[in-house]
Amino acid sequence: MLFCLKCKGLLIPNKDDPKKVMCASCGYKPRQKKNLSVKEKVDIDSRLEVVDKTIETLPLTEAECPKCTYVKAFYWTAQTRSSDEAETRFFRCQKCRHQWRQYD
Ligand SMILES: [Zn+2]
Ligand SMILES: [Zn+2]
Repeated sequence: MLFCLKCKGLLIPNKDDPKKVMCASCGYKPRQKKNLSVKEKVDIDSRLEVVDKTIETLPLTEAECPKCTYVKAFYWTAQTRSSDEAETRFFRCQKCRHQWRQYD
């Protein structure tokens, strides 16, 4: 339960914007920057998790893992920085999940 910083009244959901709260007695609307940044962080974390799951569906190739020397790895390519730069190939060891990149 949250209370107003000004009059200690009860904070209720803002009718105009349900994501925000306002004071039931004086109408004071506290800033909620903190809550927003927490939400953003959660979004980033869930995006990373999606990438992690997608990796399992990537094609396998013969590439030697620099960490455990296993010879099979998932691979995908990504354009880094500017578009005139060569594509970067990413590998992820099927065995130890070590990830590395290779430039052409
Ligand atoms: Zn108040
Ligand atoms: Zn490995």
